[in-house]
Amino acid sequence: MAKYIFVTGGVTSSLGKGIIAASLAKLLQARGLRVTIQKFDPYINVDPGTLNPYEHGECYVTEDGAETDLDLGHYERFLSIYTSQANNVTTGRIYQTVIEQERQGVYLGKTVQVVPHITDEIKRCMRILGESGNYDVVITEIGGTVGDIESLPFVESVRQLQWELPEEDTVVVHLTLIPYLRAAKELKTKPTQHSVRMLSQEGVHPDVIVCRTERSISSDLRKKIALFCNVRQEAVIESLDASTIYEVPLMMMREGLDTIVMKKLHRTGKQEPDLSRWSDFLHKLKNPKQVVSIGLIGKYIELQDAYKSILEAFVHAGAVQETEVQVINLHSEQLNASNIQDQLKGLDGLLVAPGFGHRGVEGKIEAVRYAREQGLPFFGICLGMQMAAIEFARNALDHKKAHSTEMDPQTPDPVIALMEDQKQLQVKGGTMRLGAYPCDLKPGSLAERIYGSTRISERHRHRWEFNNRYLEAFQQAGMQASGVNPGSGLVEVIELKDHPFFIGVQYHPELKSTVENPHPIFVHFIRAALERRNLATSSRPRKEAVES
Ligand code: GLN
Repeated sequence: MAKYIFVTGGVTSSLGKGIIAASLAKLLQARGLRVTIQKFDPYINVDPGTLNPYEHGECYVTEDGAETDLDLGHYERFLSIYTSQANNVTTGRIYQTVIEQERQGVYLGKTVQVVPHITDEIKRCMRILGESGNYDVVITEIGGTVGDIESLPFVESVRQLQWELPEEDTVVVHLTLIPYLRAAKELKTKPTQHSVRMLSQEGVHPDVIVCRTERSISSDLRKKIALFCNVRQEAVIESLDASTIYEVPLMMMREGLDTIVMKKLHRTGKQEPDLSRWSDFLHKLKNPKQVVSIGLIGKYIELQDAYKSILEAFVHAGAVQETEVQVINLHSEQLNASNIQDQLKGLDGLLVAPGFGHRGVEGKIEAVRYAREQGLPFFGICLGMQMAAIEFARNALDHKKAHSTEMDPQTPDPVIALMEDQKQLQVKGGTMRLGAYPCDLKPGSLAERIYGSTRISERHRHRWEFNNRYLEAFQQAGMQASGVNPGSGLVEVIELKDHPFFIGVQYHPELKSTVENPHPIFVHFIRAALERRNLATSSRPRKEAVES
């Protein structure tokens, strides 16, 4: 039987509930337990797929094609496990199910209400993964902040589950903020007391309180929090601001978070979590021997969460090579033919990011051109790959008006076009090409060398595709389709023959990069960038020589 850990948040949002949940999961996994994490989000959207990245950051896609919250990305990166549709549930999805059942007459004429019908459906979803028999522990992160109107049914469901299950089968971890008041030179516990009181009023009492703070909490203060919030003193856990999220599992281990949780759940496992690989990664991450700078060309760069998985994949790929990856954010709307050289000079590699709509695409195309002509390592993801195809058609094949029909439906040269099955669709949510698809790589290609395999599987999230009408002309001019979907023949990878490193992928490799398995394209891209940097440094005249 699985045990259930619930993680709630108080005082304010953005305290890092997802990272605390993922860190606890990592520690339990490192003690030999089978762990998964799920996130329950209080908003009414059925999934975050239709949300603008400015609203909600990146939309993370799972193997089974679910469009989910970006916290699931952290879960996968920390645990090296796959999550699925079952790991992300929203209020919208709960209501959708209940309303569909009501229309089918499932409730036999009863009045359908938040309690018990909505809470029953929430509880059913909370227990699905636990009942699969695949896990010893299921961690459920409740989105939002305790006291919000929207999160009430979720907290109520936790209360009911605690009442239904044996005492040793559930733990509630509450994450709060202990603010430091500079004028008073003091850490303040009152907001935490209030938020625990609010949670208790809703019927749930936390077993563990994790205190996010910028200053260390003294033992007197811990005692005070324990007393006023009615938890044992060792259940008051300090979570100091960390220099990297990857430090948090080790910090939580030092604080004994996993020990206290194991004790409450009556679970036995290894005495100590085995985090040797994790520590090795962290050591390399914090002690880089070299540095590369990579330009990230996107249109949502003001909001770093929009490119979360890409940024994390750089961290993983840099660390294995003991290299610090400096990501230089460049707004695609501000790039044009006349400033491109200036904007991109000094970079060791260029990544053109995924995206939707026409805003900023001409800047992306200019950036691709620069990388192609200057031999700058280039990596295009999804829209980035499509931009590389358009640039090639325009400037190498002389189809000056080549475009994607997403941006220019009337283009005479639609090198990127919609497949027939996408043309008919009216509904927006969940209708893109989503989730894992197989891909065959050409023997001897850069892609095959990178993966060390001719059959791979990667995750997709897009509607438009490379138009195979142009394939022959592309290949003849030196841009080959090195990755193709075995069933449909759709082009998934393009690469340039006479270039140090130029690859575009229709899928999203960043979604599968984890701490323990950095993604090979990111690893090879950083390697190519390092080579370029070293070449540039060795061919640059030495300073003394220039001066003399
Ligand atoms: N807008 C493009 C499409 O839908 C690319 C999507 C993406 O970059 N994820 O095909």
